[in-house]
Amino acid sequence: MFLAFCNIYFSPMQLGVDTVPVFVGPVSYLLLSKPAKGVEKSFSLLSLLDKILPIYKEVVAELKAAGASSIQFDEPTLVMDLDSHQLQAFTKAYSELEASCSGLNVIVETYFADVPSEAFKTLTSLKGVTGFGFDLVRGTKTLDLIKGGFPTGKYLFAGVVDGRNIWANDLAASLSVLQELESIVGKDKLVVSTSCSLLHTAVDRINEPKLDQEIKSWLAFAAQKVVEVNALAKALAGHKEEAFFSENAAAQASRKSSPRVTNEAVQKAASALKGSDHRRATDVSARLDAQQKKLKLPVLPTTTIGSFPQTMDLRRVRREFKAKKISEEDYVKAIKEEINKVVKLQEELDIDVLVHGEPERNDMVEYFGEQLSGFAFTANGWVQSYGSRCVKPPIIYGDVSRPKPMTVFWSTMAQSMTARPMKGMLTGPVTILNWSFVRNDQPRFETCYQIALAIKDEVEDLEKAGITVIQIDEAALREGLPLRKSEHAFYLDWAVHSFRIVNCGVQDTTQIHTHMCYSNFNDIIHSIIDMDADVITIENSRSDEKLLSVFREGVKYGAGIGPGVYDIHSPRIPSTEEIADRINKMLAVLETNILWVNPDCGLKTRKYTEVKPALKNMVAAAKLLRTELASAK
Ligand code: GLN
Ligand code: ZN
Repeated sequence: MFLAFCNIYFSPMQLGVDTVPVFVGPVSYLLLSKPAKGVEKSFSLLSLLDKILPIYKEVVAELKAAGASSIQFDEPTLVMDLDSHQLQAFTKAYSELEASCSGLNVIVETYFADVPSEAFKTLTSLKGVTGFGFDLVRGTKTLDLIKGGFPTGKYLFAGVVDGRNIWANDLAASLSVLQELESIVGKDKLVVSTSCSLLHTAVDRINEPKLDQEIKSWLAFAAQKVVEVNALAKALAGHKEEAFFSENAAAQASRKSSPRVTNEAVQKAASALKGSDHRRATDVSARLDAQQKKLKLPVLPTTTIGSFPQTMDLRRVRREFKAKKISEEDYVKAIKEEINKVVKLQEELDIDVLVHGEPERNDMVEYFGEQLSGFAFTANGWVQSYGSRCVKPPIIYGDVSRPKPMTVFWSTMAQSMTARPMKGMLTGPVTILNWSFVRNDQPRFETCYQIALAIKDEVEDLEKAGITVIQIDEAALREGLPLRKSEHAFYLDWAVHSFRIVNCGVQDTTQIHTHMCYSNFNDIIHSIIDMDADVITIENSRSDEKLLSVFREGVKYGAGIGPGVYDIHSPRIPSTEEIADRINKMLAVLETNILWVNPDCGLKTRKYTEVKPALKNMVAAAKLLRTELASAK
C-alpha cells in the first residue's frame, strides 16, 4: 500500500522523500483555460492538445530522471458535464502519454463531485493509468459507480477524508466504506486519501488555543486530516489504533448530542419554510412607484455599494477595541466620527442614496457571524481565496439564530446625520453560507434557511427603526452554483427562496436592494429576477458589458438596476465622459426610470484620493445625462 497522499508537495526527491508530483492534467488544463481576447468564439481549446502533450512528455521524462516513481494528473473537469468529443480527448491524451509514463505509477485524480457514468467509463479505461482517484465526500454516487465495476489490477484512491471542510472524519463510518471498497478492488489496491487537495481547509488546529475545547474536538484541519488518513490506512491493514478511534467516536457522539448544536425552535421554524413560497404581496413595479413617492429620487439616482476606504487608523481602532485596549465609548466615538465624515462627503458629492461606509466591519461575513449564534471563529484558520488573498471563514457548527439586532445601532446613527435616505447594509444568507465552513450534519439549504430567518429579523428591525432602503448583499450567490447543470435548478431554487424569505416581510414603501459581484450572470438572470429585489447593483465594467447583452437579447427586467459604471478594483480614476458613455450604453437597452448609477463594488480597498474624484465624476456624469434626458423630452 502507498503511503496516504495529500497533495502536499515539497521538493521531495532532493529530501529523499518519495512523494507524488501533482499536475493539472492536459485535458482539464485546456478545458479550464480561457481563450485570449479577440480569439474567435468558435475556436476549440482542445485543438491545442497536440501542442501541449509534447510538453507534458518532457516534464514526465525529467521527473523520471529525477527519480519519481509515481505521478498524479488532476483532471477535475471529469466531474462536469462533458460531451463525447471532450471525453475522447482524455482517451487520446493518455494514450499518447502512455509510452513516456511507462514504469511510473500514473494516477488520474478527480474531485468536488462524482464522475458521471459515461466519464467514469472513459476514465477507468484510460491507457497507461494505474490508479484512479475519487472524491467520496462530495461525490455521493461514487461508491455505486465503483460497485458497478472497477478495472482489475488498478489502484483506487478513495477520498474519504473531506479536504474542503474542517470537520473531523467519522472514522468508523469511513473504515466500513473502505472495507467495502477493498472487497471490490482487492487488498493491495486501495489507497486511503483526502477527497481533494488540502488547499481548501485550514492548516492546523494546534494554532487555535483560544477555540472552545468542545468545538475544537469536532474539528480536523489539514494536519489532523493527514493523521486521520494514516489511521484509516493502518486500521485497514489490521493495525487499528483503538484509542484514536474511540476518541474520535466520542467526539462524533458529543457533536451529535451537544445542546450547543441544536436549537429546536430554530429547527422547527426553518423546516416550516420548506415547500412553501415567500414573496412580497405587491409586484415590483407598483412597489417602485410607492417607494418613489416616498424617496423622491431624481432619474438615474446615484449610490455606492457600501464600504468606504478602510484606513490604517480604522483598522487600528477596531484592533484596539477587540484587544480591549480602548473602551467601548472611545470605540463608538471613533466609528461615529468616521461615519459622519463619510456621510458629509457623500452629501458634498451630491450622491442621492447614502451608505454609512461600513467602518465597523472587518469582513462582510465575519461581522454577522460574530453576532449570530451557531458560529465559531478561528484565530488562524486562513485559506486561500485567490492569488495572494486569504480569508478566515467562520465555522457554522450549530443552529443559527440572532440574539439581538446587529446593525440597527450604526444604521440609525448614520441616518440621523442626514436627511437623505441611508441604506441599511446587510450580508445575505447565501453569501454567509457560501463564505463559511458549513456544518456537514444537515443539508446546506437547511442551514441557509436558518440564516435567512436571522437576517429577516434584522431587515424588519431596520425597517421598524425608520430605515427605508435596505441593501442585502449576495456577492457569492453565483459562485455557489453546482458544477453540474442538472443540479443548478435545485440550488437556485433554495438560494433564491432564502433571499425572498429575508425580504418578503417589509412594506411596499421599503426599498430592498441587493448587490452582486462578478458579471457572469446571463445564464442565471431569471433566478436573479426571481429574487424579487427592488434594485440590484451588479458588476459590469470589467466584463465588456457582457451583462447588458442579456437585456439586448430581450430579457424583461422591471426592477431597478445599477450595472457598475466603473471598476473599483483599479486605482484608475474614470473621467466624466467615460462614465457618461457607459450610462448611455445602458440607456440603449434599459428603461430610463429603472437605471441606477453606481460603482461596480464596495470602495474599501481604494484610497480617498482615488474615491473622491471618481465619485465626483460619476455624479457629474449622472447629472449630465439627466439634463440631456430632460431637454430631449
Ligand atoms: N457592501 C459590501 C461593500 O461595499 C459589498 C462587498 C462585496 O460585494 N464583496 O464592501
Ligand atoms: Zn461586490
